[in-house]
Amino acid sequence: MELRIFNTLKREKEVFSPIDPGNVRMYVCGPTVYDYAHIGNARPVVVFDVLYRLLRHLYGPDHVTYVRNITDVDDKINARAAAEGVSIRELTEKTAAQYHADMHALGALDPDIEPRATEHIGEMKAMIETLVAKGHAYVAEGHVLFDVPSMKAYGGLSRRTLEDMEAGARVEVAPYKKDAMDFVLWKPSKSGEPSWPSPCGIAAEGRPGWHIECSAMAKKHLGETFDIHGGGIDLTFPHHENEIAQSRCAHDTAIMAKYWMHNGFLQVEGEKMSKSLGNFITVHELLETDKVGGRRWPGLAVRLVMLTTHYRQPIDFTEHALVEAEKLIGRWAELIARHQIVATLDAAPPLELAEALCDDLNTPRALAALHAYAREARSGDAAAAQKLVDAATFLGLDPAQWHSKQQEVDMAAMADPELAAKVEELIAARIAARGAKNWSEADRIRDELVAMGIVLMDAKNPSTGELETSWELK
Ligand code: AMP
Ligand code: ZN
Repeated sequence: MELRIFNTLKREKEVFSPIDPGNVRMYVCGPTVYDYAHIGNARPVVVFDVLYRLLRHLYGPDHVTYVRNITDVDDKINARAAAEGVSIRELTEKTAAQYHADMHALGALDPDIEPRATEHIGEMKAMIETLVAKGHAYVAEGHVLFDVPSMKAYGGLSRRTLEDMEAGARVEVAPYKKDAMDFVLWKPSKSGEPSWPSPCGIAAEGRPGWHIECSAMAKKHLGETFDIHGGGIDLTFPHHENEIAQSRCAHDTAIMAKYWMHNGFLQVEGEKMSKSLGNFITVHELLETDKVGGRRWPGLAVRLVMLTTHYRQPIDFTEHALVEAEKLIGRWAELIARHQIVATLDAAPPLELAEALCDDLNTPRALAALHAYAREARSGDAAAAQKLVDAATFLGLDPAQWHSKQQEVDMAAMADPELAAKVEELIAARIAARGAKNWSEADRIRDELVAMGIVLMDAKNPSTGELETSWELK
C-alpha cells in the first residue's frame, strides 16, 4: 500500500519514498523541559506517534528510526530553575520524567532515540566550526552567527524571500549582526547560566543557540539527510528554516529532510490557549487534577479527541469532545465484552484503517472505519468486533484500558468491597420499601445513598417488568 503525505516543502501530497527502505528515518522536535507539557505540546506527540506506528507496520519495526530530542538548555529553563531555587539538572530531569509519564498516558510509544541537547555540545561546536570554515557563519562579539545571505535557497520551506523577511524584521537589530536575518549559533553565557568552552577561538565560555541543537542531533543520529522531519506548524519559521540552512550548508546537501510535516495548532473551547486567558491546560492537569470539568480524564479519551481532527487542521479541544470520546470508548468496551474479544498488541491494521492512514494520516476517516466496525459488531458480527479492537490497538487506543459504566462499578466494588456490599444492601432495602409502598422509607434510603456519593439509575427490566437499579460512584 502506498503512503502519501503532505510535504510542507512542496505544499502538496506526495508518495512517500524513503531514501533507504531498510532504515526509514524521522526526526521530530521535542519539548523544552522547564514545565508541564500543555495539551498543544501533546498534539505533535500523538500525530507523529500514529505515523511512527504506520511506518513500523509498512517497513517493519526494525527498519524505522524515530528521534525526538529533549531541549535541556534554554533561557526559560534557566529562569525557572532560578525562580524555584533548584539546579538546572534537577528541573530538567523532573520535567522530562513528567513528560514521559504524560505521553505514555496518552498512549504514545517512546521514540527509538531521545537525545538531549546538553549531551551533544561537541557535535554542535563541530558543526558551527564547519559552517564558519565554509563561509556560512562568522564570529562577532563572542557570538557565532549564521550568515543568512550566504545561503541562496534560504526561505524555501516557509516560502519567504530574504527581502520580505528583512523588510519585516524589527528595527532593533543587534549591532554585531551583518544582516538583520542572521541568527545565533553560539552565544556568550551570562554568569550563573550553563556554559561550555566556546568554538572558533572565542575566549569566553558560551552556549548554543536553539536551532543548531536539532541540526547537530539529527546529523548524529540520522545522518546528513533523512526522510521525515516533523513538528508543529509554528516551527516552520524560523526554527525549521534555520535547521535546513545549517544542515544543508554544513553538509553541502540539497536537502536536510525529504519530507517536512507540520501539525496544525490546538485551541481550547474556541480560543487560543494562553496563560493570560486562563484557558491554559497541561496534560498533567487533565489526567491528574479536577481542573477540567471537575474531574480527571482518561489519557485514551484525550488521545481519541486528538485523532478526531485531521492533523493539519486546527483542532478545538473541548470538554464536550472529551465527554463524547469517553462515551464512545465505553460503548466499544461493551462490544468487546459482549463478543469476548481479546486484544493482541501487534495487531495488523484492518484494510480500511490502513488505507485511511496511508492517505496523509487521515485519522477522521480511520475513526469512521471504527464506527462502521462497531455498528456491525452491535448487530452481532464478531469478526467486526475483532476489527474494531485491532484498529483501535493500532491507533494506540489500548483496549485493555477501555471501561464501560458497568465495569467502572465492578472496579469500584473491587477497590472497596465493603462500600459495594453496603450499597447493594441499601438498594435491596429500597426496592423492598417500594414494593411495600413505603415511599418515605424508599426516599430516605435514596438520600442516604446520594450522601455516600452514589448515583442511582433506575430502569424497568423489559422482560420481567421489574424495577432494577444500577449504581456508580459520582
Ligand atoms: P515548544 O515546547 O513550544 O517548542 O513546543 C513543542 C512542540 O509543541 C512543537 O512541535 C510545537 O510546534 C508544538 N506546539 C506548541 N503549542 C502548540 C499548540 N497550541 N498546538 C499544537 N502544537 C503546539
Ligand atoms: Zn527542532
